[in-house]
Amino acid sequence: MDKKDELKQLKESLLMQKKNGALLLDDDGLAKCDTFCEGYKTFLDRSKTEREGAAYAVELLEAKGFRAWKRGDAVKAGDKIYSLNRGKAVIAAVIGTDPLEDGIRLSAAHIDSPRLDLKQCPLYEDNELALFKTHYYGGLKKYQWTVLPLALHGVIVKKDGTSVTVRIGENEGDPIFCVTDLLPHLAQEQVKRTLAGAIKGEELNLLIGSRPFRSDDGSDLVKLRIMQILNEKYGITEADFLSAELEIVPAGRARDLGFDRSMIGAYGHDDRVCAYPSLAALLETENPQHTAVVILTDKEEIGSEGNTGLQSAYFEHFMIDLADAFGTQAHTVFAKSQCLSADVTAAFDPTFSDVHDRRNCAYLNYGVCMMKFTGARGKSGSSDASAEFIGKMRTLFDEAGVIWQTGELGKVDAGGGGTVAAYLANLNIDTVDLGVPVLSMHAPLEVVSKIDVYMCYEAVLAFNRS
Ligand code: MN
Ligand code: MN
Repeated sequence: MDKKDELKQLKESLLMQKKNGALLLDDDGLAKCDTFCEGYKTFLDRSKTEREGAAYAVELLEAKGFRAWKRGDAVKAGDKIYSLNRGKAVIAAVIGTDPLEDGIRLSAAHIDSPRLDLKQCPLYEDNELALFKTHYYGGLKKYQWTVLPLALHGVIVKKDGTSVTVRIGENEGDPIFCVTDLLPHLAQEQVKRTLAGAIKGEELNLLIGSRPFRSDDGSDLVKLRIMQILNEKYGITEADFLSAELEIVPAGRARDLGFDRSMIGAYGHDDRVCAYPSLAALLETENPQHTAVVILTDKEEIGSEGNTGLQSAYFEHFMIDLADAFGTQAHTVFAKSQCLSADVTAAFDPTFSDVHDRRNCAYLNYGVCMMKFTGARGKSGSSDASAEFIGKMRTLFDEAGVIWQTGELGKVDAGGGGTVAAYLANLNIDTVDLGVPVLSMHAPLEVVSKIDVYMCYEAVLAFNRS
């Protein structure tokens, strides 16, 4: 062997090779990614809010033979069960053939996304325009939410306890809404604001009407007209907004992005882009050895608070009930369980390359990303997975042919972010973050690669079967 060949061989055996997924897949492989993403786009369009995501997930689960399960119901190996938490979060499981105390294979994603919520007293009229006051939900760049078509989704609970579902702005022919912005001609002072303050929270007012009642007396005639329309359509009065959850999200459908259609542009990839693959993998999981469980949770974007977020006991209690059904204890099950905390990470953006460590960031098309830790300021808020557990997942993914990469969310101290990983690890479950890289995360239009979405599915499927 000459020196040149020897070096080449040495390089191949000793150094890590990273390759674009498009080079690792053949035409059939790429077609699988594209086909899978058609289902994902439907999920995106049907699941613009956590409630819609939970309802659609239940629809998909029931179509595959999953049944609602509660404490005390009979359950055995091979069974497919789910539990819906307040219409906003879902736990689904396929019971394994091994004893439950051998641990579960858990994947956890969230189905809430950054958005604008209506305030409790939202409706007002100002200079003969009708508007809604909003309070943003999650970490967003407020200026990005002006001057784009917006839709209104949610529920209104009336005084008599009945509720109405609202979904307006999505269908062809529906009206849309928007937050206005100042014209550049008069923005001399506004453009001096910092980016963070370019649009203030109290400036995120949604324009919803402008035509007053035909009358010579009385004030608030535009507001009154809007309330009349809402009363005719939904049977509500202004006081019913007090008990409503109305969410303003970008209007419109998920679309292929790029001439090569290699990407998807949509609202809410974070974290439907992990929720859907996790759910789809569970739907394809039959008679697993270990019980496979998926959580689609709410409230991650505001810190996993509340009784539908993962800082609450709802998952632990589900597991206590399941463990009781098999004559064991949840803490015993947790100790041997494994979890993929399925949430997105930042993809390298060549336009804003400064914030990334090029040797340790995720790239579009390089596959699903496994992250040992997340957090900020020295890993705070992160669960920091063990080398042993990462070792197991690494071997599992390699053997299953999953295209995967690692990646930190930005340079050290450039910022950071957390996931639900810590709350599941706190239950004494081996947990690691795994997710799809996203461009323009938390923006009204986020971007992902179809290869990466499909590899998230392949990763969870291999995990469920391990
Ligand atoms: Mn997320
Ligand atoms: Mn997020």
